[in-house]
Amino acid sequence: MSGALLVISGPSGAGKSSIIRELLKQIPNSVFSISTTTREKRENEIDGVNYHFTDKKSFKKEIKNGAFLEWANVHGNFYGTSLKQIIKFVDEGKLVILDIDVQGYMILKKRLKCRITSIFLTTKNIDDLKTRLLLRQSDSEADIEKRLKNAIAEMAYMKRYKYLVINDDFKTALAQTLNIARAAFNKRSLVKTDKFIQEWIKSAK
Ligand code: 5GP
Repeated sequence: MSGALLVISGPSGAGKSSIIRELLKQIPNSVFSISTTTREKRENEIDGVNYHFTDKKSFKKEIKNGAFLEWANVHGNFYGTSLKQIIKFVDEGKLVILDIDVQGYMILKKRLKCRITSIFLTTKNIDDLKTRLLLRQSDSEADIEKRLKNAIAEMAYMKRYKYLVINDDFKTALAQTLNIARAAFNKRSLVKTDKFIQEWIKSAK
């Protein structure tokens, strides 16, 4: 196992998807962890690209089968990360980028802490977030209200993340995220230190 995980969380509408789209283009060997969700597909989304869309019954069956590394109920819908997919990518030595909520991150942290680099991405204030959610025109008014309410609760988890990126100016936020992502493979905890040192000494001629 030699891959690394880059977790990006933050309020819905903060710009995670746009940042991730650029990271995938600019970071060699990076892949996106496609989550499974019971949420309705948005007009601009493609099944199998943005998410694997499914219904609640199938999702619950997958939970029973142990298919998810983590899953959570976010804004009233289920979202989950495929265990099989993550194992495959990590085995292949990829940088796996995950767009998951704070609950999912807390679970993942317990299971794979040594492989995770975490970023909390947010807007500079809640008013900005509301403007963005309204501008993207993909959610109903009730849904936007729900997302704004959840955003306040999500902000409390900010301190659990290693890095904070404020998405005020997109270019700046992207540059900062790229810097963090590029360091993910250099996380010392990716390496079994004792084994590394033993082999390092053994190489003496
Ligand atoms: P959206 O419906 O806007 O695509 O996503 C809503 C929230 O669900 C976002 O905060 C996103 O990070 C989170 N999310 C997406 N996929 C997963 C997942 O697999 N697990 C968890 N825990 N959260 C997810």
